[in-house]
Amino acid sequence: MTTKVDLRSDTVTQPTEGMRAAMARAPLGDDVFGDDPSVNALQDKIAAMLGFEAALFVPTGTQSNLCAILAHCQRGDEYIVGQMQHCYRWEGGGAAVLGSVQPQPLNHQADGTLALADIEAAVKPDDPHFARSRLLALENTLGGKLLPMAYIEAATTLARSQGLARHLDGARLFNAAVAQAATTGAEARAEARRIAGCFDSVSVCFSKGLGAPVGSALCGSAEFIARARRIRKMAGGAMRQAGGLAAAAAYALDHHIERLADDHLLAKRLADGLTGLAGLQVEAPQTNILFVDLVGSARDQSEALLQHLASQGIQATGLYRLRFVTHLDVDAAGVDRAIAAMRGFFSN
Ligand SMILES: *Cc1c(COP(=O)(O)O)cnc(C)c1O
Repeated sequence: MTTKVDLRSDTVTQPTEGMRAAMARAPLGDDVFGDDPSVNALQDKIAAMLGFEAALFVPTGTQSNLCAILAHCQRGDEYIVGQMQHCYRWEGGGAAVLGSVQPQPLNHQADGTLALADIEAAVKPDDPHFARSRLLALENTLGGKLLPMAYIEAATTLARSQGLARHLDGARLFNAAVAQAATTGAEARAEARRIAGCFDSVSVCFSKGLGAPVGSALCGSAEFIARARRIRKMAGGAMRQAGGLAAAAAYALDHHIERLADDHLLAKRLADGLTGLAGLQVEAPQTNILFVDLVGSARDQSEALLQHLASQGIQATGLYRLRFVTHLDVDAAGVDRAIAAMRGFFSN
């Protein structure tokens, strides 16, 4: 086995030569003084692309969501969120720990959406017994699932009618946009803007499928971003000469959006290659994330399977529910190696 096929996450990508060149020649300044031209250019670019007044470059998607929730909510407020969303489940409880903002988690439906009736029922009346319901947070894609556009419109319209602000954790917004564009025939950028247009704030990760090494952007109104900037400082995320990182992100926006379609095709190729193997239940992927459940007696072999995959240079996450993520640094040959390794294991 020569190189590894790393399907653990789309965060593992290396910057391309072109991206490294863009990083190397980026003009720099002190961004805490607002002086970094490359950071400013990136913020202007992503804000314009998604139809917002302003944007803020932050080190991580986690910090971006934290800045968003704390800029929308005060102490004693709550945000309505899905059980499996990153900004509830995977961020160390940051909004509660650092902002005294309580989550009101809801169960997802099979397609990843939150039932409109559940959202409506979760909004608390103005009564001293209750936290103040202040924000609805959605995520798209969610575990690789594309939220239907009609649903996003309905959920965000409902939230607005209930007086809630609306935040989108769009870490993989461009995966959603590319997948949606494949069905509407519109351009991916237009779909991204259409999705973003339903929200008061949107967070986008550059370090996932877009293939940049570091960074996210939070987008919103100028007044909202000014509040978020204060929180970013408080959270220790105001960087100085961050322009090299911003240049990588800007390069990704110029060169790596349309190619996400390749990742989606590879996830489908992997799913097709695994479908029909006894002991596996393969969920049809909508974007770049494939979940495969071990069922029946195959569950007893999960450790052995992971060891076998590792011995073949195939990296994935999960135990009984394996997760394979395709990205810039995986090609068809790598996917075929993963299929061969899985088939090899189950044919024995
Ligand atoms: C990865 C991810 C984040 C957080 O990004 P980090 O940069 O790892 O902090 C937030 N939301 C979603 C949906 C993600 O996939």
